[in-house]
Amino acid sequence: MTEPASPALASISLANRAAIEDAALLIRKAERAIVLTGAGISTPSGIPDFRSEGTGLWARDEPLEVASLTTFRTAPERFFQWFQPLANRIFNAKPNPAHLALAEFERSGHLRTVITQNIDGLHQKAGSQHVIEMHGTLRTLSCTNCFKQFEAGPFLRPYIDTGEITQCLSCNGILKPDVILFGEQLPQSAWYEAQRAARQCDLMVVAGSSLEVLPVAGLPMQALDRGAHLIIINNTPTYLNVRADVVILDDVATTIPEIAKRVFHG
Ligand SMILES: [Zn+2]
Repeated sequence: MTEPASPALASISLANRAAIEDAALLIRKAERAIVLTGAGISTPSGIPDFRSEGTGLWARDEPLEVASLTTFRTAPERFFQWFQPLANRIFNAKPNPAHLALAEFERSGHLRTVITQNIDGLHQKAGSQHVIEMHGTLRTLSCTNCFKQFEAGPFLRPYIDTGEITQCLSCNGILKPDVILFGEQLPQSAWYEAQRAARQCDLMVVAGSSLEVLPVAGLPMQALDRGAHLIIINNTPTYLNVRADVVILDDVATTIPEIAKRVFHG
C-alpha cells in the first residue's frame, strides 16, 4: 500500500478518483467549456445556502418570505435585518480552492465563462474575468427611488455594523442590493447571455449546484440538446446525473483542484 500523494486525495473515494481523471480528460479536449456554479461552491468559504432550510443563520424567518420582493417593498427593515448576517459572511469571505481553480482554467484558456447562481462575487475575487451572475450581486446597490447605482463597498461596513437600511446619497431613497429576490425577474441580459453560452459550449461543468432553481437549472439541458458533454460535481444527486458523462458526488473545493492538477500536469 502506498499513501496517496496529497492529503485531499486521501479523502476522495476510488470511484470519484476515476471520475476526476475522466473529467480532466474532457476539460483538456474541450474547446468551448463553461461552468455553472451554485451555492455548493461557496459553502466551503463559509457562505450558507440561504435557499436551504436549517442553515443556522436564521432562527425565525423563512428566506422564501423575508428575501422576497414583497417583504422588501412592504417591510424593508425586516429584509435588512434578515440579510445582515449573510452580508457579513459575504463581506468577509475569501475564495476557496474551487474558485481559484476555475479562475486558473479561464486564464489558461480551458474555460470560457462562469455562470453563477451566487451573489457573493467570489469568482471575481478569485480572478475569474467572464462571470454571468444569474441572481445579481451584492457588489452594487441601486436606489429604489431615483435608480442611481452605487458601489456597495462604502455602504456595507456601516450596514453590517448596524443592520440599518441603506439610503441613497442623492435622494435618501432606500438602496436595494442588486441581488435578485424571490418573486423578482432574473436580469434579462444575464439570462440571454447564459442561454447563448449554454447553447454554444461543447462542455458544461455543473459545480456545487443541485439544479433545483429554475430557470437556471434548465441550462445544462440546453447544452446537452446541442451535443455538449456534461460533468456534474455536487454533494447530492441532481435530476441530470443520468445524462452526465461524468458525475462526482463530492465536495467541489476538494475535487476541482484535483481535476486542475490533472489538466495542467497530466
Ligand atoms: Zn436615490
